[in-house]
Amino acid sequence: LSERLQKAFSGLRRKGKVTDADVREAMREIRLALLEADVNFGVVKDFVKTVREQAVGADVLDSLTPAQQIIKIVNDELTKTMGESAVPLNKSPHIPTVIMMAGLQGAGKTTTVGKLSRYLMENEKARPLLIAADVYRPAAIEQLKTIGDQLGVPVFDMGTDTDPVEIVRQGMAQAALQHNDYVIIDTAGRLQIDETLMTELDNIKALAKPDEILLVVDSMTGQAATEVAEGFNKRLDITGVVLTKLDGDTRGGAALSIRAVTGKPIKFVGQGEKMDALDVFYPDRMANRILGMGDMLTLIDKAQKNYDEKQAAEMAEKIQQNSFDFNDFLDQMDQISNMGPMEDILKMIPGMANNPAVANLQVDPKDFAHMKAIVYSMTEAERTDPDLLNPSRRRRIAAGSGRPVPEVNRMIKQFNQSKKMMNQMSKGNFAGMEGLMGN
Ligand code: GDP
Ligand code: MG
Repeated sequence: LSERLQKAFSGLRRKGKVTDADVREAMREIRLALLEADVNFGVVKDFVKTVREQAVGADVLDSLTPAQQIIKIVNDELTKTMGESAVPLNKSPHIPTVIMMAGLQGAGKTTTVGKLSRYLMENEKARPLLIAADVYRPAAIEQLKTIGDQLGVPVFDMGTDTDPVEIVRQGMAQAALQHNDYVIIDTAGRLQIDETLMTELDNIKALAKPDEILLVVDSMTGQAATEVAEGFNKRLDITGVVLTKLDGDTRGGAALSIRAVTGKPIKFVGQGEKMDALDVFYPDRMANRILGMGDMLTLIDKAQKNYDEKQAAEMAEKIQQNSFDFNDFLDQMDQISNMGPMEDILKMIPGMANNPAVANLQVDPKDFAHMKAIVYSMTEAERTDPDLLNPSRRRRIAAGSGRPVPEVNRMIKQFNQSKKMMNQMSKGNFAGMEGLMGN
């Protein structure tokens, strides 16, 4: 447990300004995290540069370490790059609002047409008409009709023998007759961007004058997603992006790349094959996911709230003078307990959530209770002067706390190690940084 305590204690290190060295160290980890999340190389480079400029010389907030401060800056910047807050769908002042899908084959266009219909029906009591304009595979039309049946939404189709632009023209006419408030056009994709596809989409766009051109991108395609988005956007001037398959194990770096390269907002994310697996895109949540740090910032916020500053100053003083004792240890444990269940806290630490060794780890709150029981069984003299703890005293404490002697020994050893480390850190040796960054 001592390693984790050290991390929780890290708030004690120091205040002041973020130094060049802090930033260099932290940015190495952050660059890796972004690349691991499949953010495009070029985007990573630019991003790291921006953050570095901001971070050097920034004030370190009370009760945050420089590393935490940098994480906060990185997270804020990530969120900002992806567009501060959720962007709603464009809406036409008169019906119907026309939404056109675009994207490579298999990206999730047809599925997303269904999900969007469901979303609009649920939120706006909408009456959409779906147009089947993917004429290259009979199965594509069947797929859309199945989805329409399932949701009770009409699907306009003319089979596979009519030109897609003509299908859209007639579909729009039907929507006008039936006063549908939304028209959603499902289009064909290709395995790669090609001229035939782009021309077809361009023609559909010219006819339908969509209020919204949603590019559907598979988040699992990693670095390639950037080029795809760039290609479609150049030709079609898309209005928004749907990032699908985020229920997979991708960290979602495509979100950052796409936004950085196209400047177009990601509006929704797909999180599964079912019709209800569509969510509004929240940049701040995606930022956390991309950094792979679970809710690191929640941890920082909680730590900030729970940390009494005066106490921190006193504690820092004690550590500096190496007089940190078991009473202080008890106080610290109480503060950590206030932050919530231990395993939740651990998972918020960068790298921890993804670490298989920790992912399955259950931190028993009893461990904490046991440590406390051991301290409670010490006399006041022993608490303030841990050097008194000889074998016979340890046996007495074990009996008093109902814990085995080896456990008492282990806990005292951990205490001494923590104390030593904290003392070193307080003297300006911040070797604990790597631990915080989850290497
Ligand atoms: P299209 O070729 O762009 O129309 O893609 P489809 O809508 O046919 O989807 C291709 C495959 O991806 C299908 O098997 C879908 O069920 C699946 N799919 C689409 N969106 C998601 C998603 O968000 N999560 C998961 N896990 N699968 C998805
Ligand atoms: Mg399709």
